[in-house]
Amino acid sequence: MSLTRRDFLASSAAAAAVGVLVPRHLAGAWQGQAPSPVFTPIRRNVGYFTMRGGTIGYLVNPGAVVVVDSQFPAEGKACLDGLNTQSSGRGVDFLINTHHHGDHTAGNISFRGAAKKVVAQTKAAEHMHNPPGAQPPTDQLYPDTTFTDSWSADVGDERVTAKHYGRAHTSGDATITFERANVVHMGDLLFNQRHPVVDRAAGATLRGWMSVLDGTARDHSSDTTYIFGHANTGLPVTGNQSALGNFRDYIGAVLEFVDSNIKAGRSQEEILAMRDPLKGFESYGRFGTANPRDILTCAYEEITTGL
Ligand SMILES: [Zn+2]
Repeated sequence: MSLTRRDFLASSAAAAAVGVLVPRHLAGAWQGQAPSPVFTPIRRNVGYFTMRGGTIGYLVNPGAVVVVDSQFPAEGKACLDGLNTQSSGRGVDFLINTHHHGDHTAGNISFRGAAKKVVAQTKAAEHMHNPPGAQPPTDQLYPDTTFTDSWSADVGDERVTAKHYGRAHTSGDATITFERANVVHMGDLLFNQRHPVVDRAAGATLRGWMSVLDGTARDHSSDTTYIFGHANTGLPVTGNQSALGNFRDYIGAVLEFVDSNIKAGRSQEEILAMRDPLKGFESYGRFGTANPRDILTCAYEEITTGL
């Protein structure tokens, strides 16, 4: 039995409504259950899918299906199954990866045979084949279409554009814009009020990240809806331009915090042991344990090496 489009949207809306009462990712965790798949429409046939891993964006219109990121294999399959129900199984015209990290790309494998094209920025594609500091997956559906600065396609009555603004969370991040819907998938360029992963081994830079956020905000409008890769517990994975401004200011404040502690003569060890929430950005919570991908460590290295 296949659901009609109206049934699909109704059930998605119902699931989204339940999510308002009990945050879905918490409901499962409290009961020790796997998170369940939820499709949430945004506007003009564009929506987002949450289950486990980086938020997936999607477009389903009468002329095309587009998927942005793929979470993990089981989650990618659950997403594809739901989209097939809605599109009467027309397959996926474009699977676009925002960057190479496994919680956004490991599910690509579930789109083999369904995705006609897989798109990623050149560096992201390189990193998928050879992830810095990590093992590549034993089996993967790799990008067959790559771009340096930008890539666009007409998809039914919509136009999708992927754009690389420079190094930020990695050296291969792209924003994915559904132009007429005015929705932008940020991938991991935005962690909503949550300390981010900073992948310096894959070319991340915090100063670069700030200008990428500025550039993205400049290219869009105050009524653009942004989809975020991740959010702090209980916070939404979508928002508006103010979230970009907040995250940009937070990165700047972390750099300033680390810089002022270096100037005050504190050692690397002392600085990286600091855990208290950053003044003015308490909603991000306490800093985690120092590791090569945490923001304090990366800020310290970026300031002291100048790179
Ligand atoms: Zn990432």
